[in-house]
Amino acid sequence: MYGKMQQHLQAELKAIEEAGLYKRERIIVTPQRAKIRVQSGQEVLNFCANNYLGLSDHSRLINAATKALNERGYGMSSVRFICGTQDYHKELERTISQFFGTDDTILYAACFDANGGLFEPLFSEEDAIISDALNHASIIDGVRLCKAKRYRYLNADMNDLEEKLKEAQAERFRIIATDGVFSMDGNVAPLDRIMELAGQYDALVMVDESHSAGVVGKTGKGVTELYNMVGKVDIITGTLGKAFGGAIGGFTTGRQEIIDMLRQRSRPYLFSNSIPPLVAAAGIEAFHLLQESNELQERLHENVDYFVRRMKDAGFDIKPTQSAICAVMLYDAKLSQQFAAELLEEGIYVTGFYYPVVPKEQARIRVQLSAGHTRGHLDSAIAAFTRVGKKLEII
Ligand SMILES: *Cc1c(COP(=O)(O)O)cnc(C)c1O
Repeated sequence: MYGKMQQHLQAELKAIEEAGLYKRERIIVTPQRAKIRVQSGQEVLNFCANNYLGLSDHSRLINAATKALNERGYGMSSVRFICGTQDYHKELERTISQFFGTDDTILYAACFDANGGLFEPLFSEEDAIISDALNHASIIDGVRLCKAKRYRYLNADMNDLEEKLKEAQAERFRIIATDGVFSMDGNVAPLDRIMELAGQYDALVMVDESHSAGVVGKTGKGVTELYNMVGKVDIITGTLGKAFGGAIGGFTTGRQEIIDMLRQRSRPYLFSNSIPPLVAAAGIEAFHLLQESNELQERLHENVDYFVRRMKDAGFDIKPTQSAICAVMLYDAKLSQQFAAELLEEGIYVTGFYYPVVPKEQARIRVQLSAGHTRGHLDSAIAAFTRVGKKLEII
């Protein structure tokens, strides 16, 4: 039986490899942090993690997790509503609601599940979902699982969004769904205009703050804070897997009845395991840490400003960013791969992106900055970029 399929898969895999799109894992043998060692023994400065606040190896999170591990055990062996809810899960949900200024929160195993289980319980054939073209794969999949009519508007294009809202006026409910920060350019969704249009055309608003929570806004509440909209957006989804310690876990937070209905009908919540107590406990600690001081966000914002300014001074073409993502534009696909390889030789770990991940002729190096980077780390990266840039005659 397998023989025919095996041949088919081997051919597909070969085609992926020949197109230069084959993904391989790089094995790290230290904790996740600014300076890591990979299995070959090489030490590199890490500029491609979502560890925006440097919390992945933070002692307070480790201590909170260790305490919970000792006191409450390792796993829950249950979904939430049967026997998978401890006080830690409820406290984390309350803490997240407080942080985002929302009514209530429901935890998931990942934000992929939060988005996957969001639309189907709330919307049906009579409704419309109007989605940004560059939304994360999990929003796209969540929308696919739901019977509502689908509309797609060009990335952050408010004229196009307005057109789609007009087209969808006959439906019962409308919801605009957008990422807070788009992960390839680092731009934010124009939430001020989105909220205006939502009011004008009677639509709900959903924002996925995965790349923006902890990062964007003075106190790290995300794009809702950047645009003075804390507590006003109907639905926010997010992850514990990026700025907030980077382990695992996702959430949906927002209007009371929406969260209540998700607890009744959302399939990844009903049919998938609870996050372990140690993850919930460390998550609570991460939010507490952010509520005590803005030190980490301030350091991150300073790092982004410094890096962007110095890279521009060096002659690089940098996309305007409002997040911790900085796209160094090279345009040519092959060049982006060569550039990333040369940087790795220099001990700087970044990712080159090219078609089909970004549009054709828009190849780039994506640099992800962190509060865990010191000025010295940034200077090393900028110097390496400059050396490689000169060698490859970019600058
Ligand atoms: C990373 C990301 C997710 C997935 O989060 P996980 O918790 O890792 O599943 C979802 N949405 C967006 C916008 C993301 O950037």
